[in-house]
Amino acid sequence: MIKIILKASLIVVSLAILICAVPGMQKAKVTKIINGTTIEADINGKIEKVKLAGIGMIKKTEGKQTIDYENETKLFIQKHLGGKNIMLARDSKLSDRDKNGNLLRYVYFGRNKFFNQFIIKQGYAITVSGEGFDFVAKFKEMEKAARDSKAGIWSIALLKQTASGDETVYILKSGIKYHNKSCRSAKKGATAIKLKEARTRGYLPCKVCKPPA
Ligand SMILES: [Zn+2]
Repeated sequence: MIKIILKASLIVVSLAILICAVPGMQKAKVTKIINGTTIEADINGKIEKVKLAGIGMIKKTEGKQTIDYENETKLFIQKHLGGKNIMLARDSKLSDRDKNGNLLRYVYFGRNKFFNQFIIKQGYAITVSGEGFDFVAKFKEMEKAARDSKAGIWSIALLKQTASGDETVYILKSGIKYHNKSCRSAKKGATAIKLKEARTRGYLPCKVCKPPA
């Protein structure tokens, strides 16, 4: 019995330490993905738009056209943050809200994983340059590594799209990549769709089977 009480108090103490270690953290629940850099969250019953601090959308200019990969980015955010409980934190240098009135925040998800850094590392966002903020050096380092390894959106942003879009590719219920029919990841309950639809819905080509892109 004493052992159990000791264990319980240990848990309480360590939880208290954990909460104290991250001052200014605020609990929230993601209610919607607004765009590639903004989510909507319920913070103590109040719905707020939250702009992810320090990040921007990956863009590519082709002639006069700018491609922003918003669908790909939203699909990625939906997969990791959709409906999830998160923690929000402020930067020490950035303002509380951006010029549009959105809260400017760092998002932590899962077991204290830093989403603003994670999205750059996975190749779905860039660092907002020209702004001084707490993690700018780290974010830039992550962005370079993601570009170099052609992670996430960089796998198509750095390529010229050659396929017409009429090709048939395969998607899965979960996952944000599209595949060739022969791909081992596509065998279990894959749905056939046209490449152009896969593009519109934000799917990226699988790196293993290299479907048309
Ligand atoms: Zn594949």
